[in-house]
Parts: sequence; structure tokens; C-alpha cells
Amino acid sequence: MVQSHVSYRWTTSQQGRKVSLATRSVGVNAERTRRLGPVKLEISSDQRFTCQQCGMCCRGAWVVVTPDEAVRYRKLGAARWFSDPTETGDVDPFEPVAHGHFRIRKRKDGACGFLSDDNRCRIHMELGAEAKPLACRVFPFRFHAVEGRPLVTTSASCPTIVRNTGALLVDQAREIGALRAEWARAFPEKAEPLLFAAGRSIDVATLAAIKAALRRMLEPAAGGGEVDLAFAVERMARWLEDLSRHRVTRLPPAAFAEYVELTGRHAAETAAPAPPAPASAVTRLLSRGYLFTVVSVREHVGASANGLARHLRRMRHLAHLHGLAPATDALDRVAPRRVSLDTADPEVRRIVRHALRAAIDGLGTGRRAVIDELAVQAATLAAGIALAAMAVHRQGGDRIDAHALTVGLTAASQLGYADQGALATVLPSLTGGVDALRLVNRWLRPPHRATAEV
Ligand code: SF4
Repeated sequence: MVQSHVSYRWTTSQQGRKVSLATRSVGVNAERTRRLGPVKLEISSDQRFTCQQCGMCCRGAWVVVTPDEAVRYRKLGAARWFSDPTETGDVDPFEPVAHGHFRIRKRKDGACGFLSDDNRCRIHMELGAEAKPLACRVFPFRFHAVEGRPLVTTSASCPTIVRNTGALLVDQAREIGALRAEWARAFPEKAEPLLFAAGRSIDVATLAAIKAALRRMLEPAAGGGEVDLAFAVERMARWLEDLSRHRVTRLPPAAFAEYVELTGRHAAETAAPAPPAPASAVTRLLSRGYLFTVVSVREHVGASANGLARHLRRMRHLAHLHGLAPATDALDRVAPRRVSLDTADPEVRRIVRHALRAAIDGLGTGRRAVIDELAVQAATLAAGIALAAMAVHRQGGDRIDAHALTVGLTAASQLGYADQGALATVLPSLTGGVDALRLVNRWLRPPHRATAEV
């Protein structure tokens, strides 16, 4: 999984761990940006999080610890609290990975070796919450060193993030800022330039205008009511496709910024948006490869099978996706035809809307172009709904409720654990671009179910 120092520290450690801020609200209402000492962080004004102690993050990716943490835990005899995966006794809980760092060995079931049978962290129990590895305390946050305004994003592999429950992040800004400072000291990172698309750099103000216009598309029209998500998604797709046209991306920076401002306002406010269009056949075909990637990463992260068994499972998944073998216990390409998304349920609509809003708020990490990042987020959302459909179908149901949707989205978001190196480069090409947004729309329009097999 470790491909480079930068991707390793962001995805392997930061996406895999937990932080408990539930009892540490500072009660400061702020706008989406706050000044925290010398650093101004951009934090979503919409996102909430209070750790529910579900322990799911302790069953996700590998937990990376710094050399100092490994030394300290060894001195404190942390091996005593560790479940030995080999059952031979006397195992060092920490195994070396790249750049002098270590990772915590996992139990046989794929969970962190420090997780107790009753779902509690033994380091936390023995030494206190503040003594947990930094990567655990940082999760589900991710910090992106972007020029001018470091960005805080969240991992949807956490169900509390998906359900958007708990205290507003802007009310926890002080604690998040402190974690970010600690993280930056442990893993100093160079700010990445902002790109809208390949070869099209943008400044912070233009990015803010793009995000503001996309957020407006998710808001109800003046006069209230509820936003029609399918129309909103179509608006987003059409506007971004327009911005991505070669003659637009080739405009001089000032002209591009002006074009964003003018067309964004029009696209967000026009009274009669174009009706939702289906995703292209190519995008639908690519979505199979994307889903296969999502499932493969999940099985790799879960480490429930050895290398050969995992390889054979992957072969069975591929054969099924090509129509050459029956469904597996993880992939069923016909299930989406039999199962609908319960869009009559306000909680289901709230979860989908929040996922779209989080995708917008998280744009501009600098790790890939804005247009590619949104395509990856949309494809992951569509894959999560498809996984939810498959799980519901396996249980004999025909409707994705809020719980099933949450489980599907958190499962698909584990893709983030491996979104680095070669996979990070390839991933956008598996999405079909912003047309991937229309994969989500397949679930939002009547009859609220996918109109074709995966
Ligand atoms: S060290 Fe503790 S908090 Fe971190 S993953 Fe392991 S059990 Fe969970």
C-alpha cells in the first residue's frame, strides 16, 4: 500500500484512524474559515462529527505510528495490551514500513491488534485518549496543505460522517487546529498547486467561486421547498462539462475566473434546469471497473483472506462482472435492477445531499484536479449505493433505507485507503469524468432504481 512518503502518510495513516472530539467542543460559532494562530483552516460549515465509539475505524486501514510513538509505546510495554495475531507470543506490535515509520500489526480478523473484544482501544484504556497514536486521534479528518488556506476534509469511511451527526466541525475548530498543527509537525508537507483540470491552474478565489456555485445548486430555490436532487446533480454535471471544454480551460486566468462567475450564477439560478440525462454507455461500463476496484480494495484492507485466496476472489468478481460467472457474496450486477433507493425517506435524501455537499466542500485538496476529484467522489457515491443495493438484495429486500445506504457508502469510501500512487493516477480515468454524477442520478429519478445492470 505504501507508494510514496506523501501518499502514505495521508492515506494509510490519516484515513484509517479515529479522533474523539465528542466532549471537547469549545462552543465557538464561526464561519467556514477560522483563524487559528497563524494558520487559517478551511472547514466545512455543514459537516458534523462526534465520535460514536463504534470502533469501525479500528477495523479499517493500517495504523501508521511515528518512530517516536513506537519508541514510547515499546518503553511503556504496549505489547502487553496487544492481541498477538500469530499466537506464538512475544510479537512486537509495530512493524516497519517506509521512511522510518511503523504500522500496528492487525489481528487475524483485520482489526487493529490493540482493539479489545468489547470494541475499546487498549492504549486509550491504559494511557488515556491523548496517548493514542496521532493517526488515530486525527481520524476522520484529513489535512491538505494547499497554498493560502489549508483544507480540512473528512473520511466517509466513518458512518458518523456519512450520517452527519454530532457537533459542527466549526464548533470544534480549536481542537481540529491543534491536531492539524501536531500533524504538520510530524508530517511536514509542501503546499500543492490548485488545478481545475489538467493544464488549467486556478487561484483560491476562483476555486471558492466554483464551490459556491455548486453549493447553490444543492440549495432549494428562493421561496423554500426541497431541492430536487436529480435536477441539482444534472445542473452540476452540465456546468462542469461546460467549464471543462477545451476552449474554456484555455482562457487566460482572469477570463476563466470571470467565466466561472457568470456561468456559475446562471447555472445555479436558472429557473428551468435541463432534465436529468442518463450517463453515457462508456461511463456505465467504466462503473463496473470502478466497483471492482472498490471491492478489491475493501477485501485487501479487510485482510480476511490470504494473498492467493484474495486473488481467486478477484478472479470470480471479474468473471461475474463480465457475465461469465454467477454473483459472488460481494458483487451482484443484477441486484441494482431489483432494488430501489427509498428517496421518499427524508433521511435517505439528507444522506445523499450531504454526500454531494461534502464532495463539493472537499474540492481543492491539491492532490488532483478539481474536476477529477469531483468525478472520483461521484463515482464512489454511486458505487456505495450499488453496494447497498447488493446487500439489501442479498437479505431479500427491495429498498435501500438510510441504514443500508450508510453501510454502502462507508464501505465504498474505504477506497480512500488505497487512493495513492498508481491507483490515484488511474482512478479518475475509471469514472467517466463528471458524467459519473449521472450514475448517482440513476438512483434519484423515478422509479428510483438503476435502469440497467452494473
Ligand atoms: S491504536 Fe487504538 S484507536 Fe488506534 S486503531 Fe488501534 S484500537 Fe483503534
